Amino acid sequence: MKILVAVKRVVDSNVKVRVKSDNSAVDIANVKMSINPFDEIAVEEAVRLKEADIAAEVVAVSCGVAQSQEALRTALAIGADRAVLVETSDELQPLSVAKLLKAVMDKEQPQLLFLGKQAIDDDCNQTGQMLAALADLPQATFASKVAVADGKVTVTREVDGGLETVSLTMPAVVTTDLRLNEPRYVTLPNIMKAKKKRLDTTTPADLGVDIKPNLKTLKVMEPPKRSAGIKVPDVAALVDKLKTEAKVI
Ligand code: AMP
Repeated sequence: MKILVAVKRVVDSNVKVRVKSDNSAVDIANVKMSINPFDEIAVEEAVRLKEADIAAEVVAVSCGVAQSQEALRTALAIGADRAVLVETSDELQPLSVAKLLKAVMDKEQPQLLFLGKQAIDDDCNQTGQMLAALADLPQATFASKVAVADGKVTVTREVDGGLETVSLTMPAVVTTDLRLNEPRYVTLPNIMKAKKKRLDTTTPADLGVDIKPNLKTLKVMEPPKRSAGIKVPDVAALVDKLKTEAKVI
């Protein structure tokens, strides 16, 4: 069984981003970039399935600028076997990424596709769902547990009311949630080994995919500053403020 894992290069989660002075976008010049945390979890899960002899090959795919190779090298260091970079410096929106992943999927023919539930830069939470729709495949989003047996993948999902378990016939799309696993620490020997693993590069044009954006960003703004909290002397004062000021009770 082959697993395809989508990996996005995003601003590192520890970086405090700033909005550009012309309000056109977030300024990502010279900031630390990393593999999207949910994608790291997705790679870890795929590698664990390989280590359990359930998967035979794990292929990591990223779409974006040439430096996305760094995120792919991280995936290879975790244990992916090889990587594919769909290289473009044009803006990529979730629908374009879904189309690119579908084109790679058509070539690779994986049985399982792992994506993160969302990319922490745009927080879209769309790509996995769009890919499943484009490819007409079953999908399970927000996976906190994954088990593969007899051509089916059983996924425990985190939903508002608790947990839901669904069983999908493969090929299928699964998006990963935070509690699925704790990714391993990437060791130096594995980083060195990853440098030698195969990384193929293609382009949207090679794949015959039109990546013209459908959405236009009008303005990007900092969220309003939060005002400082206050201390109330006792419960009665708290209840009074909740009633008269916050008007929530
Ligand atoms: P989003 O819909 O943008 O929140 O992204 C959800 C998931 O789609 C991410 O966690 C990745 O697994 C995948 N994804 C999004 N953008 C890319 C990209 N440029 N390259 C590879 N995978 C991506």
